[in-house]
Amino acid sequence: MPGFVDVHCHTPMTLFRGASEDVALDRFLREILWPREAKLTDDDVFWGMTLGCAEHLRGGTTTTCEMYVFEDAIVEAVRAAGSRCVLTPGVIEAPGWDYIGPWSERLDAVLSFRDHLGDSAETIEVGIAAHAAYTLPLEALEAIGAAAHERGALVHIHVAETEGEGRELEEQHGKSVPALLGELGFLDGRVLAAHGVWLTEDDRRLFAERDVAVAHCPTANAKLASGIAPLADLRRRGIRVGLGTDSPAANNDFDMWEELRLAAFFARATTLDPEVLPAGEVLALATRGGAEALGRDDLGVLAPDKAADFVHVRTDDAAFVPRVEERDLVSHLVWAGTSRHVADVWVAGVQVVEDGRCTTVDVERARAEVQERATRVARS
Ligand SMILES: [Zn+2]
Repeated sequence: MPGFVDVHCHTPMTLFRGASEDVALDRFLREILWPREAKLTDDDVFWGMTLGCAEHLRGGTTTTCEMYVFEDAIVEAVRAAGSRCVLTPGVIEAPGWDYIGPWSERLDAVLSFRDHLGDSAETIEVGIAAHAAYTLPLEALEAIGAAAHERGALVHIHVAETEGEGRELEEQHGKSVPALLGELGFLDGRVLAAHGVWLTEDDRRLFAERDVAVAHCPTANAKLASGIAPLADLRRRGIRVGLGTDSPAANNDFDMWEELRLAAFFARATTLDPEVLPAGEVLALATRGGAEALGRDDLGVLAPDKAADFVHVRTDDAAFVPRVEERDLVSHLVWAGTSRHVADVWVAGVQVVEDGRCTTVDVERARAEVQERATRVARS
């Protein structure tokens, strides 16, 4: 089958797996995450990304869409692991983030990084990320959107993840964050909005009109008690939706098998409709759907002239028995398949997982590096 396309990740945050349990997003960011991220080095991010790439590949994920900083280290890790990535380096202005400079300088740095990398990295496409409307001034959102659209680049942003995050802006401007983004021209190009849990009726209509894609992250939204995104409704409106694992501090793994199943369970449980998201559509959501959300028609399918990113799933297991009707294979894959069934994986035609083992990464060393570096960052 085609490899999974994970459309919303902060993969180097393997360094913060378990760093924050049982607190809400806002406190987690301000009190735990941002102070630790302020202490990161290029090498920390390289090893966090490397260990994460091995986990993604091992589970059958061949493309990830990353929002993070230290983009040079991420490129180095992705190349070494033989993974594929749509990298959207983040622009953010928030407590603890002074080290990346004011937003305008950071945006210039991201744009020159993008120009510099150009087409030299076949498996890496560079977009831009605006962290969120609540961590950037409006003029920054406007400038980031314009810069991305001018270049045909994907622009990636967190939107409506939690119920309260947009309240201040809403009170100030008398409109929702999506409406504000629409006014700023932010929604005029290739836009990927992560989460979309609290989109209003009008917001959803706007997203459909402007063809804004949504990264649905059911595990992270449930674990952080943020809510459940209206997946079935978004799809009914023709909005492009892909699935994301978000960060290992909020999930706590990169398991797309778990993500696709939870997305379907939530969609059925919240609509009380057993016909919502049949198995074939769930599988498509995690593969072709993700590619569509990224605006990449070369990914997420097995077809001539498309990217040769594919997975061999071991079906000689109880989870795949019996197969009476033709549709049973896909049903078993979706409702009973797990990452342990992934035997081999190829990215761009190159084998990166063999017999359940990631062959491109020294996983034992990566684990030791992350263990040591994460401990230093937590305790220093
Ligand atoms: Zn996120």
